[in-house]
Amino acid sequence: MKLIFEKSVSGRGCSILPPCDVESASLPYGLERQNPPALPEMSETDVSRHYSELCRQVHGVNCGFYPLGSCTMKYNPRIDEELAALPGFTDVHPLTPAEDAAGCMEVLALAKRYLCEISGMADMTFQPAAGAHGEFTGVLLIKQYHDARGDKARTKIIVPDSAHGTNPATAAMCGYQVVNIPSAPDGCVDLDALQKVLGPDTAGLMLTNPNTVGLFDRNILEITRMVHEAGGLCYYDGANLNAVMGIVRPGDMGFDCIHMNLHKTFATPHGGGGPGAGAVGCKEFLRAYLPQSSLMQEPGHLQVRAFCGNFLVVVKALAYLMMLGAEGVPQAAENAVLNANYLMQRIKGTFRPAFDRICMHEFVLDLSEFKKQTGVSALDVAKSLIDYGMHPPTMYFPLIVHEALMLEPTETEGKQTLDDAAEVFRSLYALAHSDPERMHKAPHNTPIGRPDEVRAARNPIVRYVPA
Ligand SMILES: *Cc1c(COP(=O)(O)O)cnc(C)c1O
Repeated sequence: MKLIFEKSVSGRGCSILPPCDVESASLPYGLERQNPPALPEMSETDVSRHYSELCRQVHGVNCGFYPLGSCTMKYNPRIDEELAALPGFTDVHPLTPAEDAAGCMEVLALAKRYLCEISGMADMTFQPAAGAHGEFTGVLLIKQYHDARGDKARTKIIVPDSAHGTNPATAAMCGYQVVNIPSAPDGCVDLDALQKVLGPDTAGLMLTNPNTVGLFDRNILEITRMVHEAGGLCYYDGANLNAVMGIVRPGDMGFDCIHMNLHKTFATPHGGGGPGAGAVGCKEFLRAYLPQSSLMQEPGHLQVRAFCGNFLVVVKALAYLMMLGAEGVPQAAENAVLNANYLMQRIKGTFRPAFDRICMHEFVLDLSEFKKQTGVSALDVAKSLIDYGMHPPTMYFPLIVHEALMLEPTETEGKQTLDDAAEVFRSLYALAHSDPERMHKAPHNTPIGRPDEVRAARNPIVRYVPA
């Protein structure tokens, strides 16, 4: 597809602005540009077609199956977008006094009440704009707690090797030393390995449960008890609450604070750079350290973002929760788990699950044996799925599984989609044995097939330089 600049024809254009009917003013000297900007010259029809074509090239959950593990790419009901677009929510100025924005304050209070109920926490802030930002905020609560007690010896945060990369990054950014512990063969926390690293220097543990291989850690009560006994606190990475919401509460598992990605589990689309909300909840004893959302900061009080964070994301979360209700929330979780297990069972005859036991909302395939036999890698399979109109699963994560593909179908897919996807996996398994070369070159139907990902990330070309 051509760039819009390449489609430009000198002299072409569309006049959509009416003639200026106010006196024109000139900019101060030095601020005016010397040359007119090199904008593309196109007709309105061509502009419209150009962007529609770009839009068609993007795969979203509204185009097809999107089983991107650990990302919860579920269908988000349009009604939530409509409610968040109401002028009473979109037009309110952040400096409006609370008494003049009573409706918005009620949204925040009600969303907080429901999400505290779901997570088993006492209080919550909506300031953080993402999951990683929420982790940062949550670990700062832990740090403030130890500092306030004069406990300066606690310099380490324990993170299992299956953790999402943001966990060790967060601990390091908060000034902690990261202690990695290996997982047990069943993919869960190795209690002996944990016991060995616990001590008077333990500030806390960061954990996801279900963990990143999609398994619920059966020893969770023992794990949090051990950390508390050593004087540390327990942080729950609740980025994906899809498997447990309304079923089991992180607070009851023994966690002291948590973040939840409203932009994964609670009706805001994830990806594309936001906006998101990493709601951070905590138990009563950490409440005093939460960021304050008012502008009148008490000196020394934590603030991680202006005002109340991405308010409209909270509106969507509340609309979603009110729509589902107390019965619908656990039902969604049950269906997410059912769908993941169904798909895993359907695929199991061909590709091998990394852990062959009942999974939660997602599961991981281990393609290392398959690669040895066929020479076809997890990357080749992921790329081949694109030709079938499916978004690839998460690849090469978690790091503890080699040649990993991680699938999270979510609760919003029907049986037909899952059956179709299983059929695609079956065909690719066969193709890998009959024509592996074709899979090394996939995808075959996209404008770009295999970009140099490192170069694309390190040296992105985002600016068109006219010839
Ligand atoms: C997505 C995710 C995060 C980070 O969330 P962002 O909003 O992308 O910063 C952290 N932990 C886990 C387990 C996740 O899946």
